[in-house]
Amino acid sequence: MQAEIIAVGTEILLGQIVDTNSAFIARELAEAGIEVYYHSLVGDNATRLTAVVEQARSRSDLVIISGGLGPTKDDLTKQTVAHLLGVKLVEDALAMAKIRRRFAINGREMTPNNRLQALYPAGSQPLANRTGLAVGAFYQDPDGADIMLLPGPPSETEPMFREQALPLLKQTYPRSEYLSSRVLRFFGIGESQLVTQLSDLIDQQTNPTIAPYAKVNEVTLRLTAQAPDEMQGQRLLDDLTATIKARVGDYLYGYGDDNSLAAVVVQTLIDRQLTITAAESLTAGQFQSTLGSVPGVSVVFPGGFVTYAASAKHDLLGVSQATIDQDGVVSAATAKEMASRSRERLDTDFSLSFTGVAGPDALEGQPAGTVWLGLAQRGQQPQAKLLHLTGTRSAIRERSVLTGLDWLRRTLQKVK
Ligand code: ATP
Ligand code: MG
Repeated sequence: MQAEIIAVGTEILLGQIVDTNSAFIARELAEAGIEVYYHSLVGDNATRLTAVVEQARSRSDLVIISGGLGPTKDDLTKQTVAHLLGVKLVEDALAMAKIRRRFAINGREMTPNNRLQALYPAGSQPLANRTGLAVGAFYQDPDGADIMLLPGPPSETEPMFREQALPLLKQTYPRSEYLSSRVLRFFGIGESQLVTQLSDLIDQQTNPTIAPYAKVNEVTLRLTAQAPDEMQGQRLLDDLTATIKARVGDYLYGYGDDNSLAAVVVQTLIDRQLTITAAESLTAGQFQSTLGSVPGVSVVFPGGFVTYAASAKHDLLGVSQATIDQDGVVSAATAKEMASRSRERLDTDFSLSFTGVAGPDALEGQPAGTVWLGLAQRGQQPQAKLLHLTGTRSAIRERSVLTGLDWLRRTLQKVK
């Protein structure tokens, strides 16, 4: 079962609006286990639309088209598809009544072109439009690919698809196999390195499949298994996860679509009943703000420090003037003192510190991207870690925060 999606609209072709319908439909189909191999985009032109639909029908089982169901001259999807299928357009009485009612309420005269919104290709099942006027359609063709027509405005497409189309599709194309998927999230390893380490698994993949996806500061793998039931699907995913963990488990920080390093760290702190604070120079509170974005963080994070100037490091934290004078603020010694003093001030189990050069200018003779992280842990000597980061000022700050979180995550793994 293969579906294909076509967006119709000259304004999309010209880049005046972005095609969100196709992305929405594709996501919904993926969740329903219907595969999509092609997306197309075509302007409001009958000849070219016909060509695109014919090509789609030659290689897919189902073609879903959005846009061009309205009453204006450039809306020609319905007429074009009906012509291509060799059927007439017929009227949906309910949709027609709704259009008449709408005009009556507004006290306007209904022009004949408005009737077009109530028409659909004969032989198809009309799809009611709860949030608009143009009726959709699902045409099942015993001799060729099926066609679904949806309106263009997302406020109409999305409810129609969820409420009308999807149940119909599930019923029309029942699945014998159950689809289970799992997202693995990695930090500290690039996509190419990850893919290289797993190249044999990726090359041989059949079931489960492995889909790598690189985001700005992390890489994810989506594993998808087909099985007769959920339990067997989960077992396939467990086996593959174990194989992947044996190779690159060091970088695997969590699971799930809506997860993050901060969420994993905060949850671990909550589970272990440990507390954290932070002293931030170059990140100026960004680490603490990231922690703060996780619900429930307040039980493990009493507060912390933003100490930008050397004087603030001294006055607020008690970093010694001798350290600042001898080693400078961008140094292992300052990072360690910032972490241990802040930890002592709030009596937490951990503290992380950030000091460095966010750029674009150098500081204390050190280039932009030179960053020291400090980590203090109750009952242990403080540690410092040097990073050489590249990119813009905001990229350097963001990467510093994530590297700090990952360091903490790895440290927490070792806490008994
Ligand atoms: P209408 O009855 O409003 O004319 P329609 O079904 O004829 O609806 P179009 O005329 O193609 O649809 O598009 C109407 C509006 O819907 C567009 O101007 C645009 O704002 C939005 N739209 C259309 N297609 C898409 C799409 N693929 N993604 C996002 N928005 C879209
Ligand atoms: Mg229109």
